[in-house]
Amino acid sequence: MKINIVRPFLPKLEEISSQIESSLNSGLVTNNSPFVQQFEDKLQRFYNCPMKPLVNCNGELSLYNIIQAHKTQMGYDVHDSFEVIVPSFTFAGTINAIVANNLKPVFCDIDEGLVLDLNKIDFSNGSIKMLIAVGAYGNLCNLGKLKEIENQYNIKVILDNAPAFGSKCDGKHPWEYGFSEMISFHATKIFNAIEGGASIVSDPEIQKLLVYIRDFGQYEKTRGDIQIPGLNSKMQEFSAIVGLSNLEKVDFILNERKKNILRYVKFFDSLKSEGYLNVMNVQTNIECTYLYFPIILNDDATDFVKYMVEKQIAVRRYYTATHDLKYYKNKYRCQNLDFTNKIKDQIVSLPIFTIMSNDELEYIFTSVENYFKK
Ligand SMILES: *Cc1c(COP(=O)(O)O)cnc(C)c1O
Repeated sequence: MKINIVRPFLPKLEEISSQIESSLNSGLVTNNSPFVQQFEDKLQRFYNCPMKPLVNCNGELSLYNIIQAHKTQMGYDVHDSFEVIVPSFTFAGTINAIVANNLKPVFCDIDEGLVLDLNKIDFSNGSIKMLIAVGAYGNLCNLGKLKEIENQYNIKVILDNAPAFGSKCDGKHPWEYGFSEMISFHATKIFNAIEGGASIVSDPEIQKLLVYIRDFGQYEKTRGDIQIPGLNSKMQEFSAIVGLSNLEKVDFILNERKKNILRYVKFFDSLKSEGYLNVMNVQTNIECTYLYFPIILNDDATDFVKYMVEKQIAVRRYYTATHDLKYYKNKYRCQNLDFTNKIKDQIVSLPIFTIMSNDELEYIFTSVENYFKK
């Protein structure tokens, strides 16, 4: 049996063919086109948020734009710089969005939830003005505590929730805490529009800037005058059509996924209790939608990865310690990274999809069990 690392949830052609046809016939294929607007309206209904989520061509640019909007609102120009607290343990895209805004990441540690360790951050030195928390694998920091930190240290908190579509803290969507949030709709993620991303914010001034930024920074179209040097990051119509179709099935997507998550958790908790490995610690007040199922081995994962490749089960060494990536190595300040450094070579992500057969689940579990108990 062969199992890929992801299995994107996608509509059948006949489910979206009439929308694609109407888009092609109308010529309205991008620039805030009808299905893009409809997608934003339906996302607003899903999130029940006061302002429309703004969609983009991908999540990295959604994050880039949010950072640019807040940096501008804080009174800085594009060439100005300050430091941004961020977990080292994330995807390069998080750090790239900071650095492309001419800001400096300060790499910080994660806790056993594989998200930013809020107890370990040191705000005392340097020029820290911003913090970006990452919803790694769909897990979230304690957002109530993060709100207190934002107020206490007078920093702007942004959420890179690219992998955390549908995750909640204390029964609330992350936007309900008043943070500016980014989500990714990439085909590998929990909910997809092939490529895509969105920002959800609660400050009308930030929302206005984000609308300008994604359209080159233009605030008026007769002359194309710009408020801010924004990067074109509009979503086009076909992604919105796929996103809309998937959004109609969002309850099904999340419910089916939850069933698979419960089986994974049960199986891996038992291997954990026998001392074979460790799992991501998800606090009881967090609803985690699990982008992949990460496991932490007791030592280097190379042999395990090799074994899984032989079993034709795709696994991924993801996320990673970004402070160690070739471009970022020794370039920026690192705080204590003990836990990140300890687990970075021991962590492996296993595939978990919305739709998985019982045979597939059993095959993955039996293969893993045989590795440890052979
Ligand atoms: C996927 C991901 C991104 C990038 O999102 P794209 O939509 O692929 O650009 C950024 N940050 C994190 C943490 C991610 O998991």
